[in-house]
Amino acid sequence: MVYDVIIIGAGPAGLAAAIYSSRARLNTLLIEKNGCGGQMTVTDLLENYPGFNGGINGFDLALKLEEQAKEFGAEIIYDEVVSLQDGNIKKVVTVNNSYQTKTIIVASGTHVKKMNIPGESAFIGKGVSFCATCDAPFYKDKDVVVIGGGDSAIQEAIYLSKFAKNVTIVHRKDSLKATKILQERLLSYSNISIMYNSVANEIIGTSSIEKIRITNIKTSQVQELNTNGVFVFIGLLPNTDFITNISLDDQGYVITDENMRTSIVGIFACGDVRKKQLRQVVTATSDGAQAAVSAVHYLETL
Ligand code: NDP
Repeated sequence: MVYDVIIIGAGPAGLAAAIYSSRARLNTLLIEKNGCGGQMTVTDLLENYPGFNGGINGFDLALKLEEQAKEFGAEIIYDEVVSLQDGNIKKVVTVNNSYQTKTIIVASGTHVKKMNIPGESAFIGKGVSFCATCDAPFYKDKDVVVIGGGDSAIQEAIYLSKFAKNVTIVHRKDSLKATKILQERLLSYSNISIMYNSVANEIIGTSSIEKIRITNIKTSQVQELNTNGVFVFIGLLPNTDFITNISLDDQGYVITDENMRTSIVGIFACGDVRKKQLRQVVTATSDGAQAAVSAVHYLETL
């Protein structure tokens, strides 16, 4: 069987692409490695997705998008894509199978970046976390450190502050990168403090985390802070390991034009995996819609 389109990744970009391609009556297969929704499933509250005044839980929105895609006829399978082969009929190779298709939409998203400091890997799952929504309840009345100064770090620090006794944000610059409304909101939480111009050098403990060593990069002063948990939110890296021939930028993001066309005809990319300025659920769904419409236009030329 040859699909009209295979979409790789079922985050908001891939699910939106599946909704649009199924409604265009393309024979659509969506391949997802983990579960539908991608990064947004670990977001407690999406406050900036239009239409949900007061916010919507990321997992709930993912479920809605998944149901909508299935309702219009998209097929979803759970497998990991390992390579792509170009040609008039393209091939998507997964761990368990391989599939033929006329077009491909890459919507594989990103994964969290690690600090790569001593103690980080050793304490993953034992105090080092990349998901406050998943792990915050384990830190009730305890002290935690959040690394980073972007939207994720600030949003997750606020979430953690509802459980933890004290939340210390460690940020390498002298001002935060996060959206202003999140920065303003921080001020109303008395149990959140910020260490600016500071980087983490080592996470220290025996069976669990006891301390984190931090250097002030302006003064070179080193201090050890007692903490029970370290939450790392220092950005994202694109999931492009399975891609060989498509043009990527110097950080590994897929280069597309405004219609989501990559450097290979018939292969499109959308969402966070794509080189772009704004990575949000709303821009991911928008990209997904455009990628599907571009696939439709391309199929009309065959
Ligand atoms: P960002 O890339 O936006 O921010 C990463 C932060 O970590 C920056 O403050 C950066 O510092 C810092 N950092 C990077 N590398 C290191 C390092 N090695 N050591 C210490 N600190 C480091 O990532 P986010 O995960 O915050 O956000 C990813 C995307 O998701 C963004 O586009 C964001 O807007 C979006 N997002 C949106 C949300 C919302 O709208 N509510 C919520 C969460 C995420 P520096 O400032 O010095 O570069």
